[in-house]
Amino acid sequence: MAVISVGCLGGGAIMAANGVGETPLNKAASEERTQHFLGGLCSDFKFAGYALTEPGSGSDVAGMTTRYKRDGDHFVLDGVKHFITNGTEADWFTVFATRDASERHGGIACFVVPADTPGVTTTKMTGKLGQRCSDTAEIGFDQVRVPLDALVGNEGEGFHIAMQTFERTRPQIGPMCIGIARRALEESRDYALEREQFGEPIANFQAIQFMLADMAIEVEAMRLLTWKAAWSIDQGEPASIVASYAKAFGADRTIQIAINAVQIFGGYGYMKEYPVEKLMRDAKLLQIYEGTSQIQRMVIARNLLKK
Ligand SMILES: Cc1cc2nc3c(=O)[nH]c(=O)nc-3n(C[C@H](O)[C@H](O)[C@H](O)COP(=O)(O)OP(=O)(O)OC[C@H]3O[C@@H](n4cnc5c(N)ncnc54)[C@H](O)[C@@H]3O)c2cc1C
Repeated sequence: MAVISVGCLGGGAIMAANGVGETPLNKAASEERTQHFLGGLCSDFKFAGYALTEPGSGSDVAGMTTRYKRDGDHFVLDGVKHFITNGTEADWFTVFATRDASERHGGIACFVVPADTPGVTTTKMTGKLGQRCSDTAEIGFDQVRVPLDALVGNEGEGFHIAMQTFERTRPQIGPMCIGIARRALEESRDYALEREQFGEPIANFQAIQFMLADMAIEVEAMRLLTWKAAWSIDQGEPASIVASYAKAFGADRTIQIAINAVQIFGGYGYMKEYPVEKLMRDAKLLQIYEGTSQIQRMVIARNLLKK
């Protein structure tokens, strides 16, 4: 993931979205369902999507209004999800819906829904600041009927499954941060050695050296935090706090590193002809998807203050 994100963070996001889409199945679906849906991701050129966010409910996941109800041997889903990565390309989605919005966390369930199910519509969302190669879409569910075994886990467990998913996938943002931040550092170093002002390379100026040094420290620190989060998951330890450390630190430092890369390039950095303006546009999204930097701090503070 880090290597792909050196080349293009949007490419990393496409792969990461597959990972987020599949994780609820890994956590809570039967072996048969898991094989059926996940097998294709490995053996064929298939995509998955994770449909949680809605126009009116982003950070406040429990505020979702996409509804489901039981009708004989089917569940019926109605509502709209948006900002869904891989949305128009995905072969199937993990979808979160509520039996009654007033139940908030307790009313949510998770379903796996093939994209070609009648009543599912996908509409590309265009005009993004960055990560434009990754597909973003609105997904409509209009009287979408799915069999009972489309339920992942049990009714009422959807919120917990969504949070368990993030505990597992937020550290995935770490390698994406490391990749793009490393690229910003390498581009800045090369440019600083080549660009001359006042008769010498700008790399000779301490102001530039210190920006480069800070970038290098932060890339190394985000790598260690990401490894720690991955290690905690491998040990089976509760990992939500360390996953949030890795996500918040990685995202916040990466956008600053990308901004500093533009600074080191001066006016050229602002031009599309040079690589760093794209890094800055792409990096901003790291602070928003999979829970904003503010939400990561809420998770951390809640853990710190728990009696
Ligand atoms: C390109 C793109 C791809 C995405 N991909 C997916 C995807 O594949 N699947 C999916 O389900 N979602 C996806 N998202 C949605 C993303 O996860 C949400 O945008 C994000 O969670 C924030 O929700 P929101 O946009 O509704 O902002 P809001 O929740 O409205 O937040 C607005 C601002 O308020 C702050 N805020 C909100 N609540 C609090 C609080 N309690 N305390 C302090 N600050 C708060 C936020 O941090 C933010 O700064 C994607 C988004 C984008 C832009």
